[in-house]
Amino acid sequence: RGPGTLSVVLRSFGEGMRLVLSQDVTERERSEAMRRDFVANVSHEIRTPLTVLAGFIETMDSLPLTEVERKRVLHLMTQQTQRMQSLVSDLLTLAQLEGSPRPGADTWVSVDALLKRVAADGQALSAGRHEIKLWQATPAQLAGQESELFSAMANLVNNAVRYTPEGGRIDIAWVVQADGSGELSVADSGLGISREHIPRLTERFYRVDGSRSRETGGTGLGLSIVKHVVQRHGGALDIQSEPGKGSRFRLLFPAARVREPVLEAA
Ligand code: ADP
Repeated sequence: RGPGTLSVVLRSFGEGMRLVLSQDVTERERSEAMRRDFVANVSHEIRTPLTVLAGFIETMDSLPLTEVERKRVLHLMTQQTQRMQSLVSDLLTLAQLEGSPRPGADTWVSVDALLKRVAADGQALSAGRHEIKLWQATPAQLAGQESELFSAMANLVNNAVRYTPEGGRIDIAWVVQADGSGELSVADSGLGISREHIPRLTERFYRVDGSRSRETGGTGLGLSIVKHVVQRHGGALDIQSEPGKGSRFRLLFPAARVREPVLEAA
């Protein structure tokens, strides 16, 4: 509900009832259109791998395949199945985030342990193709929900690995600023993103390069999950990127959600 629209209408009509009604209708129409878009996108994302799978099944049924060909077709079928599994899993994550209350500020997560798991998963995914470093000057804690924070960081590292060519570097960091606020970040020396795409990256199914995203197992939902998680923790997502140079994604958390381990002992 834009406050700008509200003041304009107020001045020209001055009728409280009508004003509220017309705003609600606009809002409802917009969210209805968004819902329709979303359903259309999901249907498309599911239909494509299904069509490919149907084609392969037909091939296997109608053509005599050598053992090597049969293995190749099974491999491609597995890829398409995994694509649908990732999609359903990301959709469930989004639905859970939307349907559950915001994480309280009274459960403290050890960022140290969390980042070690994130980095280990990144190493496994990269399989030695990138130099992955973990930076942590202050082992402070963060208030929130561990599985959500893990999922956000894992998504960022997963992207860094997928959009950084072999030999590149990936830095995962946790920094506590002088004002007490905290920052989790993932930076890579990869492909980078041009300026016009940056504001749209967190939209569901928005991809800069659709074929690359799909080829590497992307669902187009990762960054919208990341944004949801950080906002539910009272924070914000900051994206900086330059084509050919790399990208940096920062999750910024307010001081109220950050505490030094020293306080824990007191
Ligand atoms: P996807 O599953 O396609 O990776 P995301 O929501 O995670 O979906 O990301 C949206 C788009 O942002 C990606 O398709 C990709 O084009 C771009 N992107 C995300 N992370 C990076 C990165 N680290 N480097 C370059 N491009 C990225």
